[in-house]
Amino acid sequence: MTDTTLTVDLDALAYNYGVLKHFAGAAETGAAVKADAYGMGSEAVGLRLWKEGCRSFFVARLAEGQTLRRALGERDASIYVLDGMTGPADGPRLMASRLIPVLNSLAQVETWITYGDQRWLEAALHVDTGMNRLGLRLEDARALAKNRAKLSKMDVALVMSHLACADDPKNPMSAQQLERFRAVRGLFPAAQGSLANSAGTFLGVAYGFDLVRPGLSLYGAGANGKTDSRLKPVASLHAPILQVRDVPAGETVGYGATFTAVRPVKIAVLAAGYADGLPRTPASSGNAWFANGKRRILGRISMDLLAIDVTGCDEAEPGAMVELVGPNITVDDAAHAGGISAYELLTRLSLRATRRYIGEA
Ligand SMILES: *Cc1c(COP(=O)(O)O)cnc(C)c1O
Repeated sequence: MTDTTLTVDLDALAYNYGVLKHFAGAAETGAAVKADAYGMGSEAVGLRLWKEGCRSFFVARLAEGQTLRRALGERDASIYVLDGMTGPADGPRLMASRLIPVLNSLAQVETWITYGDQRWLEAALHVDTGMNRLGLRLEDARALAKNRAKLSKMDVALVMSHLACADDPKNPMSAQQLERFRAVRGLFPAAQGSLANSAGTFLGVAYGFDLVRPGLSLYGAGANGKTDSRLKPVASLHAPILQVRDVPAGETVGYGATFTAVRPVKIAVLAAGYADGLPRTPASSGNAWFANGKRRILGRISMDLLAIDVTGCDEAEPGAMVELVGPNITVDDAAHAGGISAYELLTRLSLRATRRYIGEA
């Protein structure tokens, strides 16, 4: 390994799928694989999760669904497109790839059922229970539930909603949304129900209904913004040392000269920066892992480079690889140090790094 490399551990992914499955209880465990499986590669992730028994996949965009369908080929899997239908032109594209739109409004329902005389007309309904992002309002869902004519034109396979505050177990909003979702679920008794993302899955089996749809925690990040030792790290970012240099006391490191050496330091300059997904701010926060120890990041992270403190560390030489995210610098810690979320960090890590896989897809 000499390039800046994003290593995706598919065995760890499979392990985490097992953990989520355990918490899902009797509910089926699906997977959110939007944004190229949170940057981990939706083809490899989709194939491996399918082998682990996953049969329900959630993507955001139609094109992501097409990519996943191509990867899964003839394998039996439901692929839900969270955007639903963005216009009538989506209909043939959804049908051609056997994608299931998550219908988010009565207008989207209307558009989808115009395809009602064609074969593939499964649909999911997203009902908003308080987040006010996507989904039918409760009163619209009630009206639709009474409209036999409309309902006869499609097969509502799934009714879903999304939790706004599940990452904070003490927030009372989750229980409110749970109660509302129970009522919605009752309106469509033939459909499966799905409410929980990763954090919702950890809230308890009451949140599981028929299907949970975790994303984040499959990829090894804690559902509450902190490292979760029950999960295994999936993503690792390693970068080579390009240059080692001695910085005399009083000199500064990097743009903005935000780090000043108060005593002489030896630094290693690495081939990784914010164009590799690392958070640019704040200066001198966060650590890397090298030669069995945490090494402080010094100064501001540049586009392509960053510096770490390797004072007293003989192993530091050009070409040696340094862990920036991985088993020792968790995705949660690295994100936290940079003032961003694990979601943001994961989805950025594949911006430029060479991606390689451990374990079978
Ligand atoms: C992203 C997403 C998920 C997965 O959420 P995580 O917090 O990553 O587990 C589930 N459902 C919907 C609607 C989503 O947008």
